[in-house]
Amino acid sequence: MAVDLATAPASVASVTTATHLASEDLFDVAVRQFNIAADVIGLEDDIRRVLSHCQRELTVHFPVEMDDGSVQVFTGYRVQHNSGPGPTKGGIRYHQNVTLSEVRALAMWMTWKCAVMNLPFGGAKGGVQVNPKLLSRNEVQNLTRRYTTEIMPIIGPNVDIPAPDVNTNPQVMAWLMDTYSMNVGHSVPGVTTGKPIALGGSEGRTEATGRGVVFAISDAAARLGMDLEETTSVVQGFGNVGSVAARLIAEHGSKVIAVSDVKGGVYNPAGLDLDALVQHRIRTGSVVGFAGGETVDGPSTLELECDILIPAALEGQLTAENAPRIQARIIAEGANGPTTPEADEIFSERGILVLPDIFANAGGVTVSYFEWVQALQAFPWTEQQVNERLREVMHRAFLAITEIAETKQVPMRTAALVRAIERVAEFTRLRGIYP
Ligand code: GLU
Repeated sequence: MAVDLATAPASVASVTTATHLASEDLFDVAVRQFNIAADVIGLEDDIRRVLSHCQRELTVHFPVEMDDGSVQVFTGYRVQHNSGPGPTKGGIRYHQNVTLSEVRALAMWMTWKCAVMNLPFGGAKGGVQVNPKLLSRNEVQNLTRRYTTEIMPIIGPNVDIPAPDVNTNPQVMAWLMDTYSMNVGHSVPGVTTGKPIALGGSEGRTEATGRGVVFAISDAAARLGMDLEETTSVVQGFGNVGSVAARLIAEHGSKVIAVSDVKGGVYNPAGLDLDALVQHRIRTGSVVGFAGGETVDGPSTLELECDILIPAALEGQLTAENAPRIQARIIAEGANGPTTPEADEIFSERGILVLPDIFANAGGVTVSYFEWVQALQAFPWTEQQVNERLREVMHRAFLAITEIAETKQVPMRTAALVRAIERVAEFTRLRGIYP
């Protein structure tokens, strides 16, 4: 098995096909964001060099027996950006466009996300190049079990702890946990988070990312003197994060006027009936065609007049091209990396408040941390305890980031990165460079 311990910069990452080029820059984007904050801190060059590389990268090519008896070979990755603060932590995504550069970027963002929230984890991410919607349940299970086995040398409850991400869910985590456990010969619930509750998953974990997004928005709205009851919201992505965020922001009184998914969007200026929309999505697989609204194209929903925009799909959605037309006052990043650095600049000039991914969507990994603690102690918490503690951790992070943003006069993304990088840099200095 090839464990690549080299710390090669993103520019030498291998690009195998043209279809990978689009997201090949993502790690460069992450490094650019890092450098902006490192400049604000005046971070020393040695630490800057260390933190702008990923510590460990594993690429695996593995066979899976399909239902028709044929054998397909899939490519997957697990990247650990930095293990200074503790075991590394981060989700696994199944998507046809996954690249090493993307997984590196997502791993780096996990380091910052955990540090912003003060969690005792470094950052990691995994991905498999596959469209799981084209696979049967049995094939997804086989793929998950073999991928888990391939990355086993570098995961573990004290080493690197996976979780759900795009197109993975509690069932996938149950197979991962079972595969790891069967290989070591005993049950290890702490090897993953986002498990089904019956297997030691945490109450509130499924909703945690969306719930955290809404906690972030309500703190920001209060700061701006906005009454959520008088606001409108638009949500891009209606998966685990977007659908929960839409429901909870509506519970806070905001009118959700548009929602989109990969197939398109639905718009109703009077507000969408979200329960009915969820039922429609379960029935048809998409929000498109929902009778309680007008079907519109997905990207245009981002540009609708609204107060709160929640991009909760994939990276690279808000760019220099569409940023001048965005009309929201608050953008809360439910997804990782939805805003390019160029768009960030435009939003900053236009006075649009961006609640950055490494803070806004950190509710997921925060409750993952709670789940890991519960698994290690074999002592489950109630949903109320989970939600209250999540609220507290999000609020503390919000206050800390806002203070940095105000004193240093920088946008919230840079402020969050400053908080995170200072923390990880301190670990690096205190631990020293081995040997
Ligand atoms: N995939 C989620 C994220 O991007 C959760 C990671 C975790 O819980 O470890 O934050």
